[in-house]
Amino acid sequence: MPFRSPIKHCRNCGSAVVYRVPDDGDTRERAVCPACATIHYENPLNVVGTVPYLGEQVLLCKRNIEPAWGKWTLPAGFMELNETATEGAQRETDEEAGAQFEMEELFTVLSVPRVGQVHLFFRARLLSERFDPGHETIEARLFTEQQIPWEEIAFRTVRETLQRYFEDRRQGRFRVHILDIL
Ligand SMILES: [Zn+2]
Repeated sequence: MPFRSPIKHCRNCGSAVVYRVPDDGDTRERAVCPACATIHYENPLNVVGTVPYLGEQVLLCKRNIEPAWGKWTLPAGFMELNETATEGAQRETDEEAGAQFEMEELFTVLSVPRVGQVHLFFRARLLSERFDPGHETIEARLFTEQQIPWEEIAFRTVRETLQRYFEDRRQGRFRVHILDIL
C-alpha cells in the first residue's frame, strides 16, 4: 500500500514522469523523466523529537492536529532541511510544548519502513514546569509512569520510547535503543 502519493511531474522540467527501473544498474522502480532523464529518488523521512522529563515525570502533548487528534504524544515532527537532528528535536519541543529544557543524549532510533520514516528521540531535561504550547497542541502536561494514558498514546514509536525510558530509569542507566517497528 503506497504511503506517499506517486510523483507525477518532473521536478526539473515539469514533464510527466514514468515509474520504471532506470538503465544505470538500479534495481528499483523510480520516477524517471522521459524528457530530461532526471531520476527522482524517494527515501525515508526523519521524525525527530524529545522525551522531556522532570524528576519522575515526562511531558506529553495532546495533539490538536490529525492524524491522531486528541491523543497524547511526545513532542516530535519532521526534520527540516538545513537543521541537525538535535536542532530539529529542540525546535519541535519548543513549538509543540513551549518548554524550557536542556537537550541530552540520543535515546531511541526507530525505523518504520511501512511508512518510510525513521524516528529519533533525544532525552531532554526540563528546567521549568511552565509550558506554553503552540497551536498544534491542546494541552501539555507532566505524567508519572503510573499516570501515562497508555491507551491514548498517538503513535507506536512514542509508546515504545516511553516504555524504554521508564525501564531504563528504573535500572538507573540510559542506553540507546534501536528498534524496528514492522
Ligand atoms: Zn524532466
